[in-house]
Amino acid sequence: MTRQWYPYRDKQRDQPRFFCAGCGEEQYSYDGEAVPGLCLECGRRARKREEDAMTLREMSVEYRAQVQVLRERIQELEQAQAASGDPGERSRLEGRIQLLTTIWRETRDQAVLLERYYERGYRRNGRYTI
Ligand SMILES: [Zn+2]
Repeated sequence: MTRQWYPYRDKQRDQPRFFCAGCGEEQYSYDGEAVPGLCLECGRRARKREEDAMTLREMSVEYRAQVQVLRERIQELEQAQAASGDPGERSRLEGRIQLLTTIWRETRDQAVLLERYYERGYRRNGRYTI
């Protein structure tokens, strides 16, 4: 019977399998659940980020729908205002149109922010933070 090869490996002499693209750490083994090219920790972070981005995209769809509803309502009020011969009524409608236009603009900005939140360098709209 021959003696088994000494089972312990010297980590320092092993070549790294790859370097993590996230943190640059040397990686010596793959984990089954790992994201390719990333260490376990960076992989978890990337997955969390992807889930968050998905949630924000879903929210942005709802904001877009709301933007459309507001847009249509504003157009209806503008038509009613144009058709009305009553100055008091026209003035009341004008106030309503201005209020809805403000809400419409903010909702649209919010939708854009949600859609682009994870785009590199997109922080132009400083009015909103999530
Ligand atoms: Zn890493």
